[in-house]
Amino acid sequence: MPEMYCCRREMRCTRNGVALVFENNGQPWYVKHADEYRCRTCDRSVIAGVAPEPIADLSRDGLETCSTHVEKLKDGRLTDLIGRPQPVVIIPIT
Ligand SMILES: [Zn+2]
Repeated sequence: MPEMYCCRREMRCTRNGVALVFENNGQPWYVKHADEYRCRTCDRSVIAGVAPEPIADLSRDGLETCSTHVEKLKDGRLTDLIGRPQPVVIIPIT
């Protein structure tokens, strides 16, 4: 895990498995997982620790598989071990 600093303190990892959905004109291209870090002083949060390999990828997995995965993410149907919906961040790439 990366060491993230804010307000001269190491930030705390507050969430694993944040889904970053990279979209081109509303079409999902790929999804990568990352972690959320939060500052205990100013409450600022950042996304870091992006996984190198995508969880879903349009060119690797095809349109249907990639789109279905993103639909489940957006509907909150993908959860962690204690049932919390996986957080989603949409990132336009054009
Ligand atoms: Zn801070």
